[in-house]
Formats: sequence, C-alpha cells, structure tokens
Amino acid sequence: MSLAPAELRHFERLLRKQRAERSAELRMLTIALEDVREARGESTADDEHDPDGPTLSVEWSRISGLHRELAAKSRALDRAFERIADGSYGVCLSCGADIGRDRLEARPATEHCIDCARRLEGRRGR
Ligand SMILES: [Zn+2]
Repeated sequence: MSLAPAELRHFERLLRKQRAERSAELRMLTIALEDVREARGESTADDEHDPDGPTLSVEWSRISGLHRELAAKSRALDRAFERIADGSYGVCLSCGADIGRDRLEARPATEHCIDCARRLEGRRGR
C-alpha cells in the first residue's frame, strides 16, 4: 500500500477519534445494562405475573445486542491500529489489493476492499 506517512497519521487520528467515541458509548451501555439488571433483580422472580418482566427482557436483549456490536467495532479499531503499526494498514485482508483512500476515509477500520466486502456480505446472505 502506498499510503504516505502523513496519510497514515491522518487515518490514525480518525481511528483514535472513533475509538474514543466507541469507548464512551460502551461505557453508557454498560451502565444501561446494569440499570436493567438491577430493575430485574428488584422485580419479583416470577416473570409471568410481573408486568415489567417481559419488557425488561426485551430491553436487556436490545441493549446487550448493541453492546456486542460496539464491542466488535472496538476490536476492529484495535486491529486497525495493529495494522498501522505493522505496515499492513490499507491492504485488503482477502485479496491483498489496496483498499483505497475514499473507502478508508468513510470506514477507517475496514479490513476489506469494496469488492471483497460485497462478496463477504453476500455470503452472509444479506
Ligand atoms: Zn479485496
């Protein structure tokens, strides 16, 4: 990949900003999960007769789903920092092609070029 040092620094800044945002969101979600856990603990163990039981379960699945998603994004950002460090940043993990500046600008943590990303998403059945 022919990213100049100045460009690498630019993407590193983008990644740092995103990771700071993800960390802040993760902290908020962790607090939200604890709130739901507490609310569930306070309600009676008998969910069937507790009007709040099912609502809290739905809320729990929703927030823990978001939490998982964010954690995965944070891990992707961490891997991007590793690739900057070892010089492989900006190269597609599948085919070895340059990912391209425009795509990196939009998704600095991406690991695949647009062609491979489409192929991989297609395989997942989207
Ligand atoms: Zn590729």
